[in-house]
Amino acid sequence: MKTKKIAGSVWKINGPLEPSSNCYLITQKEPILIDIGERGNCDDIIKTLKLIGYNPETIKHVIFTHLHYDHIGNPKKFTNAKFYASEQEILSYNLAAQKTCIKNQEILDGIKLNKLPEIFNGLKVYLTPGHTRGSICLWYEEDKVLFTGDTLFKNGILGRTDLPTSIPGKIEQSISKIAEIPYKVLAPGHDYENVQ
Ligand SMILES: [Zn+2]
Repeated sequence: MKTKKIAGSVWKINGPLEPSSNCYLITQKEPILIDIGERGNCDDIIKTLKLIGYNPETIKHVIFTHLHYDHIGNPKKFTNAKFYASEQEILSYNLAAQKTCIKNQEILDGIKLNKLPEIFNGLKVYLTPGHTRGSICLWYEEDKVLFTGDTLFKNGILGRTDLPTSIPGKIEQSISKIAEIPYKVLAPGHDYENVQ
């Protein structure tokens, strides 16, 4: 497991199993996690959070950039958290859980998914369909960090759009929505450096 402070109040945690998304912690008064990796990594992520000084009970909000299994970890471990995704992603999940998560959709059994408002604790939410129907990017202006989930990776690499709830024709339009954001740190869902 690796961890690194990537901006004033943002930590990145990732590894060791692949595929697993990066997990980001925003150390606000009400601590926020953005994506929680793959279920098999969850215990290691929790150990790492503790090292930074955050027990899982201290996490108040968990935001999913989308609901693929490698981003939703093991939410039941965060006993005091509320969970969020875009309205479109929740609709997608309610219509076809298996297709939305790709596999392991039972991870979300008993978890209440809340609709994310446009502005949430200093984060501006951009709906960026393409990789999935309800994928989002999140702009944390205070630290100039842009969280892009599986929509945009380093080197301008775009997310896959051949998955069950992808909308292939939409991703370029979605990218144009976030193109003008003056971010200093890109915080993607995975550290891909080459086209997958
Ligand atoms: Zn994904």
